This record gives sequence, C-alpha cells and structure tokens, in this order.
Amino acid sequence: MQLTFQPFELELNHPFTIAKFSRTSTPLMLLQIAHEDYIGYGEASMVPYMGESQQSAIDFLSRVDAHQFKYPFDFAGIINYLDNIAPGNPAIKAAIDIALHDLEGKLKQQPCWKLLGSDPTRMPVTSFTIGIDTPAVLIEKLKDAKNCKIIKVKLGRGSDKELISTIRSATNAPLFVDANQGWTDRQQSLDMTYWLQEQGVLLIEQPMLKTDLDGNAWLTEHSPIPIIGDEAVQRLADVEKAKGVYHGINIKLMKSAGMYEAHQMILKAKELGLKVLVGCMSETSCATLAAAALAPQCDWADLDGPLLTSNNPFKMPEFKNGKWVLNDEPGLGIFAR
Ligand code: MG
Repeated sequence: MQLTFQPFELELNHPFTIAKFSRTSTPLMLLQIAHEDYIGYGEASMVPYMGESQQSAIDFLSRVDAHQFKYPFDFAGIINYLDNIAPGNPAIKAAIDIALHDLEGKLKQQPCWKLLGSDPTRMPVTSFTIGIDTPAVLIEKLKDAKNCKIIKVKLGRGSDKELISTIRSATNAPLFVDANQGWTDRQQSLDMTYWLQEQGVLLIEQPMLKTDLDGNAWLTEHSPIPIIGDEAVQRLADVEKAKGVYHGINIKLMKSAGMYEAHQMILKAKELGLKVLVGCMSETSCATLAAAALAPQCDWADLDGPLLTSNNPFKMPEFKNGKWVLNDEPGLGIFAR
C-alpha cells in the first residue's frame, strides 16, 4: 500500500466564531492510500483548538508504515497500531482510517454505508451551523441555510437570548444550540434550557465545562431538552463516562480517530441508553461522507462542513430535503472536482 498526502487550507464562507475562538480557514491534511488499481481518500481536519496541525500530522505520518495495512483490513488492529505510534493525534489517525474504509469499499465494490450496516432511509436531517455574529450578519448567514431544516447556533458569549431572538426574527426552523462550555451558573443554565425549549430548541451541546461533571449531570437531570456532551467525549473510552452526565454524546470522526471507532462508540452509546449526535469539524465532502455513512445509526446529524466552506476539492454530495444522500458508489462515494 502506498500512502501520500498534501496539506490543504479549507476556506470558510464566513469567519467562524464560537465561545472561545474566531477563524477564517481550517488546516487540513488530504491523504490517499493506493492499493492495486484503487485509491482510498482520507482527510484530517485540524481545527486549531484541538491541538493538531499540518506539522504534527506530517510528523505522525512520517512514523506510519503503510505496509502494515493488509487487506482485508483489521480496523481494530490498525487503530491499535496507530495508537502505539503516539497517543492523541485523532484527526490524522481518522484520515488514515477514512482512506482505508474508502479503499475497502472500492476493493469490495460496496458502499461504505452498506459495509457498516447503515440504512440510508434512516438518514437524519443535518443541522446548519451559524457562528456568533452581529444581528445583521446573522440574518445574512441564515440566507445560506435556506435548504437546511435545522439551524445550529453557537452560544456562550453572554448575549445568548439576543442571538436566539435575532434568529427567530428570520426563521421558525428548529434549533440545536451549542454553548461550547460557555455557561457557568447552574441555575441560570437551567432557566436558559426552559427558555430555549420555548424557542423550539431540540438539544443543547456541552453547556458547561467538560471537567464540571456534577454541573453537567445536574443540568441533565433537570433540563426539559436533551443535553449532549461534545468536548467531554472524544473516543470510545469516554462513552461510558458520559452515562449519568449527559443525555447523549456528540461523536465526530476527528475526535474518535475515524469511522471504525465512531461506529464502536455508536454501538456502546446505544447499549448505555445514550442518544447520539454525529457531528463534524470544517470538512470537505470526504470526511462528511465518511460520517454520513454512519449517520443513519444516529439520532441527529450536524454534518454541515461542505455547506460552510468555499474551496471543497471534492464534488458536493447530493443534498436533498435537508439530508445528505448516500449513493451506491463503492467506498465513500466521493469524486474529485
Ligand atoms: Mg459542539
């Protein structure tokens, strides 16, 4: 197997602001693994606050021996091999795992979603994220969301009600909200959950600090809408810890080190009675279709990466009725432009 890669800068349609950061592009590593006549495509999206970079990805890849990957792939063994190279680095590990899944699908002439046991008719609607901004810019951004059935709003900067009211002046679409650990006071947070319920909010992501287990657990116990752990839940071992603290978890391939472990996390969450939101970073069609292959097994989807970016190097997947459409092509079903 031959592994090649190129750094890529993915441009955002609008500067993106969440509770703690703002940026206009996202560093990626695009990766190909070739075997026989097929190429598997993978992608690492390395949003700066997660701690990986193009340089850390290059350093990691320099230690990967692609001859270790033998078809048919033992994905559990492969992730174990990658974890033994170095801890952390989930995004670049995800890029390898995604490329191998794409390659496996092509070698087997089967779509990834089928190999993973997903039913495309159960694809959830995907939310479209609006970053924190001035009311005028928010209204402008909402115009980009006209094909989406759910809007996701980033809160946690102190003007939460004003922001929601601005959005409500422009659309009645159901909302997800993400506080990105920005809330601090329990009672204020609880009051906010009741107010948000009245505003048509379906779920709240990571209201308080990921380290505040008691605070998040208390809110989960009392909140009228589901509380979802995101920053608190990275990989499989974290799923068990989320029980009793959150109603559900946000699984992202760039945290889980790829599709294999994300699938294991979904199965574990179901076993524990936790709901699952499948989310993304700023991503191209590649990582988005990788997550979409698993999305029918999840309760909600937040896979808006290609909708928020302007220089996707892959063709835009079909998007219909607010949902990604899984095609019957072997592998992930992605095509270069
Ligand atoms: Mg989140």
